[in-house]
Amino acid sequence: MITALGGGVGAAKFLEGLCSVIGDEQLNVIVNTGDDICLNGLNISPDIDTVIYRLSGVIDRNKGWGLDGDTFNSLNSLERFGLDTWFNIGDKDIATHIYRTYLRGKGHTPTEITSKISEAFNIPQNIKIIPMTDQDVETWIQTNEGEMHFQEYLVKRRMVPQVCRVTIRGINHASPAPGVIDLIKNARAVIICPSNPIISIGPIVQVRGVRDALKNTQAKVVAISPLVGGMPLKGPADRLMRGLGLEVSSAQIARLYSDFLDTMVIDIEDGHENQEIADLGLKTLVVDTVMSDSKKAATLASFVFELI
Ligand code: GDP
Repeated sequence: MITALGGGVGAAKFLEGLCSVIGDEQLNVIVNTGDDICLNGLNISPDIDTVIYRLSGVIDRNKGWGLDGDTFNSLNSLERFGLDTWFNIGDKDIATHIYRTYLRGKGHTPTEITSKISEAFNIPQNIKIIPMTDQDVETWIQTNEGEMHFQEYLVKRRMVPQVCRVTIRGINHASPAPGVIDLIKNARAVIICPSNPIISIGPIVQVRGVRDALKNTQAKVVAISPLVGGMPLKGPADRLMRGLGLEVSSAQIARLYSDFLDTMVIDIEDGHENQEIADLGLKTLVVDTVMSDSKKAATLASFVFELI
């Protein structure tokens, strides 16, 4: 049994590769829910949906999120009512959010809902997708233009405001979703996906008990850096790290994870950071981590699979 921790786009690409090499071994994916937002009355869990859509083969591969061939008529129609239209929800995608909101209204937990959505998208039986917590948690970014929800910073403001601080609202009251701690403790390996260390992996390891479980597990813990050539391929990892006064490097990410990590996988473009990471007492693997297609994702996953 393997357990992975991840956010959305980078994690989903890697997990697609991993699924192609693990055979029928059980894979648990503990997904960040700090990106969740309630918009226009709909409960949206972007990272969970990105992982489900990717693993069910229906993702829009060009965008890396949303459903393939989706259109945006309903979103455009919301403009008539003066509702928020900056968050891109497609006509097919909206059905997932309606279903999630409907089930939340009936009292189902995010764990139960994620399981039902996974089933509806025919996720194989050996792959279990689990939210990090069933409590509501939201990532807020304090910027030079005021504090805003992470999605507002990312999508509406296109990462323009300068980041000063990141707050994971509700995290102190968040308990791990059922099974999360045991799935980390009892796995033979734990993989930290190539995800944003501040707003994807950060919230997961801040859920009560998760960091201790990672430290105490007998499992080998391997992380894949989301940086290539010292930069994220997509998203605000560099802006967030810099805003928090952190160096933007895979070595810095290794430092953030060093209390629970065994091995750090970094890209060949960052091979010069190898020694710095080894000096932290960690093993390293230097390979091509750019998953520009599913074949390259499978190759990276097979390196990691060999490692574990
Ligand atoms: P988000 O919530 O969708 O931003 O989800 P993630 O945190 O999982 O994804 C963002 C991170 O994934 C960024 O820091 C990217 O650099 C990283 N990423 C995306 N694609 C790749 C890839 O092909 N290789 C590596 N190493 N990282 C990637």
